[in-house]
Amino acid sequence: SGPRDDNAQCSNRRVNRSNMYQTCSELTSCCCVSEKTRKEVMAKGSTGMEVILSSLQSTQDLQTILNILCILNELLTVAGGRRVGVFVSKGGTAILLHLLISSGREASPSEELMHQIHSLLAKVGPKDRKFGVKARLSGALNVTVNLLKQNLQNHRLLLPCLQVLRLYSSNSVNAVSLGKSGMVEMMFKVIGPYTKKNTTLLKVALDTLAALLKSKMNARRAVDRGNVPALLAIYLDWHRNDTRHRHTLLRKSILGCIKNITNIKLGRKAFIDADGIRTLYNTSAECLPVRTLDLLVNTSSLIMRKCFPKNRLPLPTIKSAFHHPLPQVPASSPAAQIYSQPPDVDDVMDESDDNEETEVDTENDTEDEEKEHKNDDIETDINKLRPRHLVLRPFDELRVYERFFLEFSEDFQDFDFESSKSTSPFTPHAPKLQRPIVIPMGRTPAGPWAYPRNRHPRQDAHEPPRPNDAPMGVVFKAPKDGPEQDIEQALGCLALNTSDSMNGGCTGAGPQEEGGDQAVLEVPDTAALLPLHDPDLYLEMAKATCSVPGYTEVAYPDYFGHIAPNFREHILERVYGVQRAKIFQDIERLIHPAEILDRVVYDLDICPVVDGESLKFNSRFESGNLRKAIQVRKFEYDLVLNSDINSNHYHQWFYFEVSSMRVGVPYRFNIINCEKSNSQFNYGMQVLMYSVQEAIGGSPRWARTGSDICYYKNHFSRSSIAAGGQKGKSYYTMTFTVTFQHKDDVCYFAYHYPYTYSTLKMHLQKLQTMCTPHIYYRQELLCHTLGGNGCPLLTITAMPESCSSDRVCQFRNRPVVFLSARVHPGETNASWVMKGTLEFLMSSGPLAQSLRESYIFKIIPMLNPDGVVNGNHRCSLSGEDLNRQWQNPSSELHPTIYHAKSLLQYLSAVGRTPLVFCDYHGHSRKKNVFMYGCSVKETVWQTDINASSCDLQEDLGYRTLPKLLSQLAPAFSLASCSFVVERSKEATARVVVWREIGVQRSYTMESTLCGCDQGKYKGLQIGTRELEEMGSQFCVALLRLRRLTSPLELRNHHTHQLDMERDLIETRCNMTCPTTYVMEEDEPPFMEEVDYSAESEEENDPNLETAQLDPNSDLEINNQDTLT
Ligand SMILES: [Zn+2]
Repeated sequence: SGPRDDNAQCSNRRVNRSNMYQTCSELTSCCCVSEKTRKEVMAKGSTGMEVILSSLQSTQDLQTILNILCILNELLTVAGGRRVGVFVSKGGTAILLHLLISSGREASPSEELMHQIHSLLAKVGPKDRKFGVKARLSGALNVTVNLLKQNLQNHRLLLPCLQVLRLYSSNSVNAVSLGKSGMVEMMFKVIGPYTKKNTTLLKVALDTLAALLKSKMNARRAVDRGNVPALLAIYLDWHRNDTRHRHTLLRKSILGCIKNITNIKLGRKAFIDADGIRTLYNTSAECLPVRTLDLLVNTSSLIMRKCFPKNRLPLPTIKSAFHHPLPQVPASSPAAQIYSQPPDVDDVMDESDDNEETEVDTENDTEDEEKEHKNDDIETDINKLRPRHLVLRPFDELRVYERFFLEFSEDFQDFDFESSKSTSPFTPHAPKLQRPIVIPMGRTPAGPWAYPRNRHPRQDAHEPPRPNDAPMGVVFKAPKDGPEQDIEQALGCLALNTSDSMNGGCTGAGPQEEGGDQAVLEVPDTAALLPLHDPDLYLEMAKATCSVPGYTEVAYPDYFGHIAPNFREHILERVYGVQRAKIFQDIERLIHPAEILDRVVYDLDICPVVDGESLKFNSRFESGNLRKAIQVRKFEYDLVLNSDINSNHYHQWFYFEVSSMRVGVPYRFNIINCEKSNSQFNYGMQVLMYSVQEAIGGSPRWARTGSDICYYKNHFSRSSIAAGGQKGKSYYTMTFTVTFQHKDDVCYFAYHYPYTYSTLKMHLQKLQTMCTPHIYYRQELLCHTLGGNGCPLLTITAMPESCSSDRVCQFRNRPVVFLSARVHPGETNASWVMKGTLEFLMSSGPLAQSLRESYIFKIIPMLNPDGVVNGNHRCSLSGEDLNRQWQNPSSELHPTIYHAKSLLQYLSAVGRTPLVFCDYHGHSRKKNVFMYGCSVKETVWQTDINASSCDLQEDLGYRTLPKLLSQLAPAFSLASCSFVVERSKEATARVVVWREIGVQRSYTMESTLCGCDQGKYKGLQIGTRELEEMGSQFCVALLRLRRLTSPLELRNHHTHQLDMERDLIETRCNMTCPTTYVMEEDEPPFMEEVDYSAESEEENDPNLETAQLDPNSDLEINNQDTLT
């Protein structure tokens, strides 16, 4: 029978579609011809599908085959995808492919047969993960290719063949092979200019072409044949003619081809040469008003960004603008790598921005790759997980640290407990003889850091010279001459003046009409609200702070202080289309270059001459970070951040001043050299702004500000030197818009609430004055930093009630809690949490007293003062992350870590291993406050490498403190905690203190920089009030922990504790989403979805794809009508 009859038969079947039962019985009677099949039918457990497939295999009769295929086509269509799965699982794909091959061998295969087979394969392929491989291995590719070549005009056959070809092409190996068979050219023959006909066919051909062009080899050949301008012309043609947007998906498929072809460098060049940016920019601009065309605009934007010529950062070098010579530069250190570069090496941009070193198609079947997210960072070596009992340092070496632990030997025999109750606080006695380190409380005339040099714990320490103690005062710079003088100029800067001619105290230049060069500055009276703040004291502290650039100015916010606002600051809802709008503005720079000012208005490297109206910038103050500002448009600035000193990256922290603004005009700021691949700025976090006018008006505060905030990959190329050897990386832009409210204001912007080293020194001074007779408080100098700043060490506990031996014994033997913070300078939130802890510890309430009676606190509130002073984000002056140096710290390069670890080693050596160690950090990519701890068991569970080791015994005490915190602190989230030991963290404080010192409760406490998504503060951005509360709640939790661990009370709480911990274990086991996987730095992966990346594959909407593939969907049937 001929094709016509076949058709007729099929139509017949369609009539019967409603009665599948009848169809099936027909089929059964049909296949019962075969003896084998009958047995199959009778066999227990066999299904209808098996019967059908078995019949298909056993029959040779064309008509029977066609009948069966026709039935299958109906079966698989009617029940949607469900039966397709059964079909695939029963081996249907292989049977169909076999049928295709054997039919293909015939001289003139039945067209109807080929149509039926391809139609079926088009349905089955998407459900069969191995379809591409099966097709290639069976030799089916050539049969379809030959059929296509011979039937280009036969649309009825062409459609299913193209659909199958598209499925073949999704396998990368197949795509290469099909490209060699001329299929790319073939697709261009099918795709023509705009037409209302055969659109289904066109769509499939375009999708096939796009799949083929994913192969770099195919893409190269397509570029060579001039296909890029051709595709652009086709796109433009459809854009102009499809005025009613009936074929949006088809237009998107054309863009899909362009997108894939521009994955190779040649393709991008061809795209630029063909003026593709302008074409896509203009078409997108016309599409923007129609929301349904978003998918076109988004894909266009993706292509434009990808093809946008890579720029170099506008810098002479990415090395920090500041230099600090190191006492020694170990060959393996980052600083050595930086300074060993020949001077002529361009570290800003590589010679070539080629990110396709290997433009060769991989010979892997992508379908075969099981993308298991294997976590290879988790420590799997059980021996490494077990706490090491290292060969201890010789005690003689540690003996020098005895002086920091006077409380262990204090006997209070000279102390008058009776009179102290009503008079001054106890001054821990210095010094009988060899104990000179103790600072007398509150009576040091020369300030807290004035230690006799020779009493420094490291006698041999190399120490830089200290600043002189010349009298200092605060002055405002004298206003410049000219009629424009105003308060803004007067506010120009707050300078530390070391000359003798200046009087002390706070003076400033007021409005010019007052005529004087200096006038009294209104300092907001914040003493009542900020008990730890004192502007004059701040200046005194700042004066003695050593900075690499030699700062002589003080930023107003640090001087005035910050009072947390009373209003709530909600996490911003992301506005739809903001990112796109910003990216289009960036692309416009290329399209309308004449409108771009490109004027450098601030530069740490050179002093720019600024003419014309622009904002004034400044970052030359403690913790400041802004390297360069470039005015791009009248109200838009590109900002470049400075690298950490002796480093060429770590740009995240910023803190700078802006003045000369216009009121009521939106200014756009773009920080263009961000490095992280994502940021909480994409999820509602705002920058912080401090207005000096508002401060003077009575509201000295940092407040969240900025609109149109987003974070996205930009076109500034990142050299492989700065990207860990990876080529072709880009920087990211963080953009925000601010409208200033006050005329003549001076405003400051910061990444997070600043907390300078001078602020810490001021707070410690003030805390000291809070000391009561009940508090035992010592403030000592642990060591000096590379930059010459002192690293304070605090000891806080309660005074014994009397000098009776049992009281003194209790005093001396309290368990030690060791706390530290701010090893990472950019994590200023850690300092605010620490401030909360310290204030609680020095407070007079019964809980605080009880806590002091329970523990001896040893606290290093700032492990990296130099990094903080110099505006670093992550490193110390050695250019290294100090929280990666705990395994083997150098006394020369990492003195604070060296001595902090030594203190812990001393404690361990004298049998006083701390009960708790906690290092406070900030987290830039997660919300809430949470902890990382160390557990062998939970690490083993994560990797699941060795189930038997689950039996190992482990005290669950490490979970108690986080659990208590989750009950006490509203910002704390237990679900975000992790107790896994990662390989990349083996040199962090947490892991080293756990493994080497043997502290079971060794933690990193991470506070969000953004806000909370649970608890009382859900939906709010975090502020200093919440951070300080976290610090004080940490204290309350420690008090409860003491009650749980106290030997006296243990008996009562024992069962309770076990219950709680069993509950913890269960919580852990039930956790569906492990938060433990750590990708970079301290940060676990970002769970939220983000649409910022130029690499994102946004086009795989499965519903759309399958709708297009299914030839029997309504759309398809309509189009078939147009075919006939
Ligand atoms: Zn950190």
